[in-house]
Parts: sequence; C-alpha cells; structure tokens
Amino acid sequence: MSAVIELTAVSKAYPGGVTALRAVTISVEYGELAAIVGPSGSGKSTMLHLMGTLDQPSGGTVRVDGHDVAALSDRQLSALRARRIGFVFQQFHLAPGLSAQDNVADGLLYCGVPLKERRRRAREALVRVGLGDRIEHAPHELSGGERQRVAIARAVAGEPALLLADEPTGNLDSASGQGVMELLRELHAGGTTILVITHDREIAAALPRQISMRDGAVV
Ligand code: ADP
Repeated sequence: MSAVIELTAVSKAYPGGVTALRAVTISVEYGELAAIVGPSGSGKSTMLHLMGTLDQPSGGTVRVDGHDVAALSDRQLSALRARRIGFVFQQFHLAPGLSAQDNVADGLLYCGVPLKERRRRAREALVRVGLGDRIEHAPHELSGGERQRVAIARAVAGEPALLLADEPTGNLDSASGQGVMELLRELHAGGTTILVITHDREIAAALPRQISMRDGAVV
C-alpha cells in the first residue's frame, strides 16, 4: 500500500444542483508534497473535505491511509481524522487564551497520553517549527507567521500520515508566507506527506507536484 489518498471516479453534488466534483481520479503517495491548485469555485475545498473525511462523496470511492471512507462508522472516521490527518487552515484556529504549548498539546488529546507527556511532545513540535523560544506565548503575543507555525506544530505533533493545508499563507504577508512554505518543505524533507490547497499558481509551482483543478475536474 503506497497511496495515502486514492480517489476513484469521485463526484460531489451539493443540494440545489451544483456539481462541485466530476469523476475525479487521483492518488497521492506517502512522502509526497503536492499542491491542489485552481481558481475559486474549481472544487478545491470540496476535495479537501473529502480527503479529510469531513464529508462523503456523492459517487466514487475515497480511500484515506488505506481505508475506504464509506465503510467506516462515524466513530472510526473521527479516530482516523484525529490520529492520521493533520489540518492547517488559513485562519489558524488557535484557542485565544492558551499558550502555544497548550494549543499544540490539545491537538494530542486523542492520543490518550497524560498532559505532561502531551506538553513534552508539544514543546518538541514547537522546536521543530522554529518556535522553541515562544512556548509560553499566547496567540495574541505572536505574529501571523508564528501563529501559523503553532497551527502547523499542532497538526504534525501526532505524526499524521497526511498534512492537509488549506490556503496556509492566505492570511500572511508574503515574507511570512514564504517562511511557512519553507517550513512545509522542511517537514516534507523530514518525511511528512503534505497536500497544500491554494489558488496561487506561484505557490503551487514551487512544489514538486501540482494537481490542477478546473470546474470540478482535474486537468
Ligand atoms: P474552491 O475551494 O476551489 O473555491 P469549492 O469546492 O468551495 O471550490 O466549490 C466548488 C463549487 O461548489 C462552487 O460552485 C461552490 O459554489 C459550490 N459549493 C461549495 N460548497 C457548497 C455547499 N455547501 N452547498 C452548495 N454548493 C457548494
């Protein structure tokens, strides 16, 4: 088994008649760093939701980390999502009152390890993303780029099979954005499998593989 994501003839229709994906067949191997790129409305978020097991397709098969998503119960899906997929969003989604350390440690709640151990792993992840000197800082004491690094630390602390990053530089100035992309390349070099969703052709072009979307199809 070498594909972390396997979509076979996947379609998605939303109520009201919008077809967001049309017979998409792609696979992503363990160890890849790829961009899903396309203009607004081309189906990128829909694809991210299906890959992240946050939604089910209308047709076709979605396999994530070897599991056919349609065959799993809600419980099993939550476990797959929590243990095997890391999410990074444009808006960071950090808890405002918590230190960087505890934001990352909370991402490990599913591992069932005690707080002390979660904090130790959180500190390790923060060091990996270059924030070893910001461990006790709350989000409002951090720059946008640093907040996104905390979110990335949270996403990778549990060593997921796949990191899904949805427009990770969308809220950042270009220098911080470049720093975040550089960090993703470093994590990839260290073995993390990463998919970056972006509308930005330049960001996509800088990654080893581009999956281009238009009108709900891969082109
Ligand atoms: P992108 O992320 O590339 O901007 P989306 O996957 O968000 O594209 O959207 C693809 C198409 O599906 C668009 O036409 C959008 O309007 C439509 N769409 C997305 N989400 C929904 C929804 N929940 N209900 C109805 N239509 C939707």
